[in-house]
Amino acid sequence: MLDQATIDSLRHADVAPAGHLIDGKRDAVGVGDPIEVISPIDGSHLTSLADGDAALVDHAVTVARAAFDDGRWSKMPPAGRKAVLHRWADLVQANAAELAVLGVRDNGTEIGMAFRAEPGSAAATLRYYAEVCDKIYGEIAPTPDGILGMIHKEPVGVVGAIIPWNFPLMIGAWKLGPALACGNSVVIKPPESAALSLIRMCELAHEAGLPPGVLNVVTGRGETVGEAMSLSMGIDVLVFTGSGAVGRRIMANAAASNLKRTYLELGGKSANIVFADSPDMDAAVAGAVSAIFRNSGQVCVAGSRLLVEASIHDEFVAAVAAGAAKLKIGDPLTVGNDVGAVHSQGQLDKNLAALARAGEEGGRIEGGGARLHADSGGFYMEPAVVSGVAPTHDLFRNEVFGPVLAVTSFADEAEALRLSNATDYGLAGGVWTSDLGRAHRMIGGMKTGVINVNGYGAVDVTAPLGGVKQSGNGHDKSLHAVDKYIDLKTAWIQL
Ligand code: NAD
Repeated sequence: MLDQATIDSLRHADVAPAGHLIDGKRDAVGVGDPIEVISPIDGSHLTSLADGDAALVDHAVTVARAAFDDGRWSKMPPAGRKAVLHRWADLVQANAAELAVLGVRDNGTEIGMAFRAEPGSAAATLRYYAEVCDKIYGEIAPTPDGILGMIHKEPVGVVGAIIPWNFPLMIGAWKLGPALACGNSVVIKPPESAALSLIRMCELAHEAGLPPGVLNVVTGRGETVGEAMSLSMGIDVLVFTGSGAVGRRIMANAAASNLKRTYLELGGKSANIVFADSPDMDAAVAGAVSAIFRNSGQVCVAGSRLLVEASIHDEFVAAVAAGAAKLKIGDPLTVGNDVGAVHSQGQLDKNLAALARAGEEGGRIEGGGARLHADSGGFYMEPAVVSGVAPTHDLFRNEVFGPVLAVTSFADEAEALRLSNATDYGLAGGVWTSDLGRAHRMIGGMKTGVINVNGYGAVDVTAPLGGVKQSGNGHDKSLHAVDKYIDLKTAWIQL
């Protein structure tokens, strides 16, 4: 963990205008109007970020393709790629304080969480995939005599990656680790409102020995750079984490261009389900509070719906509201605060509007929901707990991506399961019970990509993260993520 003195030595450091990193060269000017980067901590102007356009994306893709074709990375011996990725992880770790504080100034996440989840988890992810480089084997098919059927695993070529603002280093590493381990070249677009630490992390890749041209960063707006990437004729695979609306557009653009494979990691409305036989009610209360309110609810797998068995409902909801009220919300760079800033004025407005609508629809505000510290110029919000949320309500069905918890009561296991599956999303969920049979029935019945039992949210890089239904396709993390970045080629040899 970082101490306050280290944080304070970094929190006011000058931030130079930032931008593209193509073929190993920086360009902080770009094309068109630069993006003014506002810190959610106090609303101050942090720096500017270069925008791009379709021509610039084409240039980055051409550079990436040339690097792929000449084999400077794609044909480097796997042990060589592994050494570079390990050195990169070392540099991310060595620069963790700088990366974490820069990221927090950009996106508002509380520093303790940012330190662990951003450089900490990014370094661990890069190490995990460094070890994959020399462990990807082809296969021999079970053919009749006289035939050798070989299945080669080849890198796809040029991978495009589009990243959201909530955890840019962690999610960036989830894409970059396996894509580079397999020998691909990459064009990555950081989120325009939280690009700075990811650009720096990509610079460190070059310091670690990644050849120029293999990893290219194109900064800019979604409607300029992101749109051009999804329409690119030169990107073979596009991996995306972000909202469902943009994910839909990316898929449509892929179909309208070169039919690039697209893998989408989208939003959620995950149900955290507490049965009356939960083994530890205090842990269940603490779990429910952190499941939704850590990082101001700006977590894709947030337990944003709390389903509580009717017999314990009132007592449990009162305890969750009390737990939420105890959270210290404030400057994300002050050690001891539990939750930092909401990411932007726009996100804060969206949160407050969702809460107002929940009240109009008949939800009971059990506590919280006010804007905080407005005089700081930053964007802060009290965690809000809303009970009596029905499956027809907006708050039940739609992701807010803010600190607003929807609570619904259920009578029995069958109703809990029905409610948990009654949204278009299927990303994560939680079950608190001491009945092993019930836990397994819920795991089997819940339509989600991740289920936590008697805990919430502690999943590491060894297990896949991905959604079902409208939460996406494909998986980040684990060895399964590697499949997105390879093509299978069959060689059928008559002996
Ligand atoms: P967003 O969809 O607004 O933006 C994500 C990225 O897409 C940004 O880089 C943005 O510039 C880019 N983009 C915007 N318009 C584009 C376009 N027309 N074409 C191509 N790219 C475009 O999402 P966000 O607000 O940054 O992130 C929040 C969302 O991400 C939430 O819905 C959250 O649940 C989701 N998320 C999902 C996961 C997961 O693993 N499933 C993880 C984190 C966040």
